[in-house]
Amino acid sequence: MFELPKAHVELFQAARELASTVEDRAAIADESVVIDQPMLDALRASGLVELCVPAAYGGRHERVDPLSVTVVREALMATSAHLDSLFAMQGIGSYALGAAGGKELRERWLPRVVSLEAIAALALTEPEVGSDLRAITTRIDSHGERLVVSGHKSFITNAGAASFYTVLGKEADAYSLVLVPAETPGVQITSGPPLLAPHVLGEVRLDDVEVPASYRVGQPGEGFSLVLATLAIFRVSVAGAAVGLAQAALDEAVRHTTGRRQFGARLADLGPIPHLLGTSWAEIEMARAFTYKAAALAAAEPLENLHWSSMAKVNATEIAGRVVDRAVQVMGRFGLIAGSKIERLYREARPMRIYEGGSEVLVSQLARKLTREKTPSPSGRGLGLPRGAQRSAG
Ligand SMILES: Cc1cc2nc3c(=O)[nH]c(=O)nc-3n(C[C@H](O)[C@H](O)[C@H](O)COP(=O)(O)OP(=O)(O)OC[C@H]3O[C@@H](n4cnc5c(N)ncnc54)[C@H](O)[C@@H]3O)c2cc1C
Repeated sequence: MFELPKAHVELFQAARELASTVEDRAAIADESVVIDQPMLDALRASGLVELCVPAAYGGRHERVDPLSVTVVREALMATSAHLDSLFAMQGIGSYALGAAGGKELRERWLPRVVSLEAIAALALTEPEVGSDLRAITTRIDSHGERLVVSGHKSFITNAGAASFYTVLGKEADAYSLVLVPAETPGVQITSGPPLLAPHVLGEVRLDDVEVPASYRVGQPGEGFSLVLATLAIFRVSVAGAAVGLAQAALDEAVRHTTGRRQFGARLADLGPIPHLLGTSWAEIEMARAFTYKAAALAAAEPLENLHWSSMAKVNATEIAGRVVDRAVQVMGRFGLIAGSKIERLYREARPMRIYEGGSEVLVSQLARKLTREKTPSPSGRGLGLPRGAQRSAG
């Protein structure tokens, strides 16, 4: 009952196999701010990006399956954040297009997203606007058969490498999404600031960029619901990536503390170290089980179950932060060596609590739902709690 379906176990194994073929490349790719070609080639050869696009456009499943994306990210992130981001962004950047884009636009871009000939990006954030997306100032103005897009998008993953940007802008008094091909005149990319954990990321300036009206994704004013639809599928996959990262950190800690002796004993047997390792293991298993559950719920009813995805994202990313910190601690000075796997994981864990919904924002949303709505629990297909306990799980 609590097992992953066989198909998902096989996907996890396929992703782990891909990750193992590029393991030697991870230390280089994860410090790169441009796409690493060997990683890209390996991802393409694996065919796993098929999971990010609907079957009608070359994808594997009729609809994108959040549990498949989640288990793949778990396996990829354990080895390389660069590889994980390359995989996930193909889905995150193109989901709205698959859900609501015009036929011609979908047919033109989505098969190329699958084959990685086209790199996708989603441009929401602006220099002055992060969590509070309703405050964006990017404008989309309709001029008959043309749309004119103007604004500045900031901290955009894949900026500079992307073939198109799915841009959220204000159209009249509402918000719309528009697909902007990277080559369109008026699109200007500059690099972003160097980050704690380097990332393919940059600033996207849109200076009176003109595209055909058919490049609007969905109806005018449908922008937010399409962004929400994207998050409803992909937010839980960040939790999967966090579980993978935490597991990799714990594996490093176990390897080190069972191999090194101090005071005539294994580090793993000294003082609080067994407690730290055991606590990390328990937290990871808890995060993994809940992440799979939330991903299965997202597969069934994405929007209705977005709060479970938010919970999974907060839990797993916060746990990954604690696990990797303990791992560094039990490895002593060896946990601090720049370029070591554990040092890389330590840096890569940190942004996960900020992007795709900061922990505090998500927790506030959960509290609002808990206290202002009659939140139905996912009983039946749910958590297996006794009836009386189900309210507090919602
Ligand atoms: C590696 C990386 C990749 C990224 N890629 C992309 C991308 O591809 N596309 C894109 O559009 N953006 C991207 N971003 C931007 C990311 O989405 C934002 O960083 C995120 O939305 C948070 O916004 P902010 O950083 O401006 O923080 P702010 O919104 O300024 O928040 C700062 C802090 O305040 C908390 N906070 C804010 N509002 C509330 C509230 N109402 N209640 C409680 N707490 C609150 C937050 O949780 C956070 O801790 C990326 C960021 C990173 C780090």
